[in-house]
Amino acid sequence: MRARHHERHRTSHIGWLRAAVLGANDGIVSTASLLLGVAAAHASHTGILVAGVAGLVAGAMSMAAGEYVSVHSQADSEQAELQQERQELHTDNEGEHKELAAIYVGRGLDPALARQVAVQLMAHDALDAHARDELGITEALRARPLQAATASAASFAIGSALPLLVAVLSPASTVIALVFVTALVFLALLGGVSACVGGASVTVGALRVGFWGALAMAITAGVGALLGAAA
Ligand SMILES: [Zn+2]
Repeated sequence: MRARHHERHRTSHIGWLRAAVLGANDGIVSTASLLLGVAAAHASHTGILVAGVAGLVAGAMSMAAGEYVSVHSQADSEQAELQQERQELHTDNEGEHKELAAIYVGRGLDPALARQVAVQLMAHDALDAHARDELGITEALRARPLQAATASAASFAIGSALPLLVAVLSPASTVIALVFVTALVFLALLGGVSACVGGASVTVGALRVGFWGALAMAITAGVGALLGAAA
């Protein structure tokens, strides 16, 4: 029996991994920055932790809401396209046969073979054939708003929990230094992993994410210190 070859293509993982890494990255940067800003304003340790927890929940909910709305509008336009396609298949079936065959000719099939393939695939499931080959809508890539929102909120919450945990475990005197340094380490690891999975340079990926994270944390801590001094 012919051995099945297992070719691993990066593309199949990239979509959801990129969303998860971006969500976690957002969680680390925004919560660590929030903790540093509040700590630099001389808030109590409890006050710092309360702000951190509120930041985690607020951030996760806003990520979920944003993702749900954007993916849902994608799902709506997919549904509208499928409905139009259903209509066209009903009103102009011969034209739809020609259209599908032309797509296959464009992909390199002989016109006769293309016609044959179009006839067989449309006999099997006409809407599915047109959705996949004409509209690029496949079951695997269908927009799933709730799934996307949950994944986005979860990755943000996991990212946020890291600096928050460090803040919980750190004595008040060293909370700023420890949150800053550990957040940079988490960000560099995350940047390196996502660069590696995407086939890009790990060092560049780690440095890029680390630089922007450090900048965000430093600016927020600076603003917190100013406000603390003014209070
Ligand atoms: Zn069509």
